[in-house]
Amino acid sequence: MPSSFLTLLFAVFIIASLLTKLWLDTRQARHVARHRDTVPAAFAPHVPALSHQRAANYTLDKLRFGLLSTAVSTVVLVGWTLLGGLNALNIAVRDAVLPAWGALPYQLVLLGAFTLIGALIELPLEAWHTFRLEQKHGFNRMTWGMWLGDQAKQLLLGLLLGGPIAALILWLMGAAGAQWWLWAWGAWVAFSLLLMVIFPIFIAPLFNKFEPLKDQGLIDRVNALMARCGFTAKGFFVMDGSRRSAHANAYFTGLGAAKRVVFYDTLLSKLTHGEVEAVLAHELGHFKHHHVLKRMVMMFALSLAGFALLGWLSQQVGFYTGLGVRPNLNATNDALALLLFMLALPPFAFFISPLFAYFSRKDEYEADAYACAQASGSDLASALIKLYKDNSSTLTPDPMYVRFHYSHPPASERLAAMQA
Ligand SMILES: [Zn+2]
Repeated sequence: MPSSFLTLLFAVFIIASLLTKLWLDTRQARHVARHRDTVPAAFAPHVPALSHQRAANYTLDKLRFGLLSTAVSTVVLVGWTLLGGLNALNIAVRDAVLPAWGALPYQLVLLGAFTLIGALIELPLEAWHTFRLEQKHGFNRMTWGMWLGDQAKQLLLGLLLGGPIAALILWLMGAAGAQWWLWAWGAWVAFSLLLMVIFPIFIAPLFNKFEPLKDQGLIDRVNALMARCGFTAKGFFVMDGSRRSAHANAYFTGLGAAKRVVFYDTLLSKLTHGEVEAVLAHELGHFKHHHVLKRMVMMFALSLAGFALLGWLSQQVGFYTGLGVRPNLNATNDALALLLFMLALPPFAFFISPLFAYFSRKDEYEADAYACAQASGSDLASALIKLYKDNSSTLTPDPMYVRFHYSHPPASERLAAMQA
């Protein structure tokens, strides 16, 4: 592959994805601002004008923040690739580590240094998100100490979990021959499945407290729902989500028949028992329709295609030079290939994201329909309205923006579908 062709293609996709994002953001901002002063008729009895305006302001601020973070990540992307950042980092790490320690440590240090620099660049943005954006709109509950503790824990977890899988993949790339990508994919799938098993048991408790649900009335109700739907629960837990944020949620984890049901304390404090039951019925609907399994299979199929593509690209000199890196002559280029692949993929993947958003919205309708059949439809509707209101989610998004970015259908369309 000629390197100038790849450079051109890469530049075209960066610019095209940037312009598309900008266009969608502008549409969304205009649409939300235009509808700021009138609550849509279907919501008028439940949502006060003040809440509606607050949601519009929050949405506009989030769009502004998104613009800032897109600008930063584009500069960082071009800096790493076409402007030679990764090339310089590679030379520095290679000369310092390779002669003394050998090929695998050199590659791991390169991955580690790259990750650390990326995290440091992201840090101010994340702080801005929590302490400016979320704070301003009354959602943040974190102190600086807690936030810094979270960052440190995340970094440590990244090293502990990411280090071994990176070492394994790099080793396979060097040792498993031309079909390495198939082995690496297998390792990746096994690692992802392992993560799903250990996340609720070992990782989530590092960040939150989980206590058994004590409200017997709610336990009885939820148990009856689970039995009706053919599920057995391994336990009902309340998570102290309110320590970090006022946003409310519920989720459902675990493999096989035994599931842990986790309610955010923020959800329980806002919804009635009937509404909590309806929200849980929606989550059960995702399992009944095998949405979780389907999404997993889709992700694994896509990552297989990704590894196969990487297997081919890593053999092309033009892949490195086209993205601003001179490949090593007397050392392996596997870590460089991994990094370049992860860097270069997003501008291309952006244009298939509407497809995934579409499937996700379709799943939400199915889960809503299931919830209406197994629990009360009017409870689900009122829970939905409360959650939209309390999370300051806009009720009037731009239809094109929805098509690209929304994993859930807009509230108005979900309510209309429930009534039908
Ligand atoms: Zn859902």
